[in-house]
Amino acid sequence: MTKIRTRYAPSPTGKMHVGNLRSALYEFLIAKHAGGDFMLRIEDTDQERFVEGATEIIYRTLDKTGLKHDEGPDKDGGFGPYVQSERMKTGIYMKYAKELIEKGEAYYCFCDKERLASLKTEVVEGKEISIYDKHCLGLSREEVEANLAAGKPFVIRQNIPNEGTTTFHDELYGDISVENAELDDMILIKSDGYPTYNFANVVDDHTMNITHVVRGNEYLSSSPKYQRLYDAFGWESPVYIHLPLITDENHKKLSKRSGHSSFEDLLEQGFVTEAIVNYIALLGWSPEDNREIFTLQELIEQFDYHRISKSPAVFDIVKLRWMNGEYLKAMDFDTFYEMAEPYLKEVLTKDLDLKKIAAMVKTRIEVFPDIAGHVDFFQELPEYDVAMYTHKKMKTNTESSLQVLKEVLPILEAQEDYSNDALYQTLVKYVEEKGYKNGFVMWPIRTAVSGKQMTPAGATEILEVLGKEESLRRIRKGIELLEKGYA
Ligand code: GLU
Repeated sequence: MTKIRTRYAPSPTGKMHVGNLRSALYEFLIAKHAGGDFMLRIEDTDQERFVEGATEIIYRTLDKTGLKHDEGPDKDGGFGPYVQSERMKTGIYMKYAKELIEKGEAYYCFCDKERLASLKTEVVEGKEISIYDKHCLGLSREEVEANLAAGKPFVIRQNIPNEGTTTFHDELYGDISVENAELDDMILIKSDGYPTYNFANVVDDHTMNITHVVRGNEYLSSSPKYQRLYDAFGWESPVYIHLPLITDENHKKLSKRSGHSSFEDLLEQGFVTEAIVNYIALLGWSPEDNREIFTLQELIEQFDYHRISKSPAVFDIVKLRWMNGEYLKAMDFDTFYEMAEPYLKEVLTKDLDLKKIAAMVKTRIEVFPDIAGHVDFFQELPEYDVAMYTHKKMKTNTESSLQVLKEVLPILEAQEDYSNDALYQTLVKYVEEKGYKNGFVMWPIRTAVSGKQMTPAGATEILEVLGKEESLRRIRKGIELLEKGYA
């Protein structure tokens, strides 16, 4: 049996988009599920779109997400070079283009800009493209030779007949047939000598023994032309899997405007890599059961590309947030703390036990930036409304709270040990002596020391972190507010 070989073939044109990462992930999973090889190929033939630093982003992302490639520019596996501009220098594309010319499947085209500009145009997928009229197909061999000898600039075009149909197969979409008349004679080799993506992807996938090609379905419409190239060479085409579009909540193509269209955006927004990868795996694929949380290793075991869906995948940030929260809950504390620390330090500049505070929020946040809203009161007591002292279930109101705070103030003043346990024992003793219910006392204390309706921890844990001096200051402040509000 042939070994499964997949490739991730990014163009270094900028950030790592969610769609790119999904293609890489699926390629990786298909290969690893079958014990095959996952290869990285850099497609840099469009020199105009090349962005400095983009290749580094690709390496960094694959490394961070754990999508380890078996072969690539930095890891020779015998199929190199792995960068298309370097492959070009070996003459491989020109050699195959000439082979097609010999077979009558391609031809030299010497038309200049002006002539091309005068051609009929057609709108294809929103873009106006000119339909080449096969003018140069009519040149005799001698004319071509003379033009070449004179150094006239040229491109090489695919020769697609006007009659007949071309059929190719996609794993998700099935057999797709297209009228040849609808296919233009696309450029294979550009005037600068570089191959187009359209040509290079075919030559490379074949010569690099690629068995499965996963890519966005924007390539679906060009695939018949690629199929014709495979057929012309007599090569077997790889298994095609064209992935559905990823849309935002408004069913528009996920774009920069959504604010979360790239891996880097998501990291900046405080998502963790494992959750992002897990979530992206589910953008178009689902397992047999409804399970949603998977480690990369579990994805490798479960991933069956036949279960990829062709309906558009909606990028649901609410769901990703939930999933991220699950990852944070499951994370070991030290790792969590290391990642949470910068977010804690941003709001908490006082001398506070940040580890204790981190432990309080670990199970309560979905993403790191949520931290601020949970812990800001430790830094400074916010202004609050005394109405917060009234709690139906705890049976408290402003009057009872004032009384309780006045009673506990001397107790807390006398208390030396401000550890959570010791404070708790002291307060429970007082509760029992008075015959109160716990909440009747803890609610006003918690309100006074936090100024918040919701806190990531109970009253005594907050007292412990604040320490004696600050805790007493806040209780006294509570008394003062209640006396004012009460009068
Ligand atoms: N270089 C193409 C891109 O980045 C790759 C498409 C493919 O995987 O064939 O979109």
